[in-house]
Amino acid sequence: MASAYQRVVLKLSGEALSGPVGYGIDAGAVAYVAAQIKAAWQTGIQLAVVVGGGNIWRGQDGAAWGMDRATADNAGMLATVINVIALQDALERADVVTRAQSAIVIQAVAEPFIRRRAIRHLEKGRVVLFGAGTGNPFMSTDTAAALRAMDIGAEALLMAKHKVDGIYDSDPRSNPSARRFDRLSYLEALNRRLQVMDSTALSLCMDNHLPIVVFDMFRENSLLRLLNGERLGTQVADFAEVAFTSS
Ligand code: UDP
Repeated sequence: MASAYQRVVLKLSGEALSGPVGYGIDAGAVAYVAAQIKAAWQTGIQLAVVVGGGNIWRGQDGAAWGMDRATADNAGMLATVINVIALQDALERADVVTRAQSAIVIQAVAEPFIRRRAIRHLEKGRVVLFGAGTGNPFMSTDTAAALRAMDIGAEALLMAKHKVDGIYDSDPRSNPSARRFDRLSYLEALNRRLQVMDSTALSLCMDNHLPIVVFDMFRENSLLRLLNGERLGTQVADFAEVAFTSS
């Protein structure tokens, strides 16, 4: 089946690599994620992945115990590079051709982020892994994902979630009658303060008309199904009205 997209950015939170424990890196979780990415890559789509670092370190936690925030955020960005290395290793062992680029220069480990070079890698069929977020403190890897999607001219930003299969009008864990949105405008998502992504990232997508899909990557072949055109999760774009999932 032809893919619904030609070039996308997949945002993976660090948690996706942490398995049942919820922190650190779990071999099974990394292998699972790599297998999903491989299946997507085999469709011929140009795929770039922005990896978070919350499974290892979050700047705000360091700042909470008195660490300088910018310093703590630098540690957070390096944590994302550790995840990139782990994911790259799993992908390469699964025979997926990859390149890693880092927004903080760390040349022995990853290429520096060079936009044109990243695009060239994609055109040559390599999965590009982006580490170190935006390279700036006080930012998130969600913002990095939005930024990189714009940088490389991706058609959509796919936000891979864990244990939640889209955006709901209230928390489905505490409210059994919570309804899942099928589609939603950027402004609705911002105004309702729905936890799609942080507001900086969301505003960036809104200003640049970058469609977002929020989906559960841990449901059977969901990434592949999404790329094959199945309507999964919640889409956030320039929609005039909200729509809920009927089933
Ligand atoms: N971070 C940063 N600038 C960026 C991206 C990330 O300073 O552009 C730091 C920040 O401290 C953050 C940490 O890296 O807490 C891990 O990233 P994030 O929390 O976005 O990871 P995720 O929640 O997606 O696992």
